[in-house]
Amino acid sequence: MHSEKPLSSRQCVICSSVLVGRSDKRFCDIKCRNYYHAEVRRSVKSVVSETMKILKHNYVQLTGMLGEKDSCVVDRLALERKGFRFNYVTDAELLGGIIYYSLFGIRYRLYKKRVYISVDSNRKPVSPFIFERWNREYAETKTGIAEQLRI
Ligand SMILES: [Zn+2]
Repeated sequence: MHSEKPLSSRQCVICSSVLVGRSDKRFCDIKCRNYYHAEVRRSVKSVVSETMKILKHNYVQLTGMLGEKDSCVVDRLALERKGFRFNYVTDAELLGGIIYYSLFGIRYRLYKKRVYISVDSNRKPVSPFIFERWNREYAETKTGIAEQLRI
């Protein structure tokens, strides 16, 4: 005979009904288990999608500012007015006392009221499959960029 844990610690994570059976059981039935996993997935998807939306918006703004050029200098306020959020980046690097921020291969640094934007020359080579997938999954972003650049 094995010892049972107190009933209070043996409740379904979702509906709080008393659990019977294996000591590592967390859900009373498959419905509660599926509900739990669906909620976790939904929550992660929501956070990731909101962050990606902001990153995409930032990327579109930098791309729009750069246009055909490899680098440019813009007013910080001009970017802020376009809804650019400076705390959303894909990378940040400290080089010679200057912080370089990156957004999908475009980098920028801040100096006083100006933003120095350039194409990231240290961009690591990536598989062409990634671009193929990116094109497929983010077709709407590409359309957005095309609209921004009016091409
Ligand atoms: Zn339950």
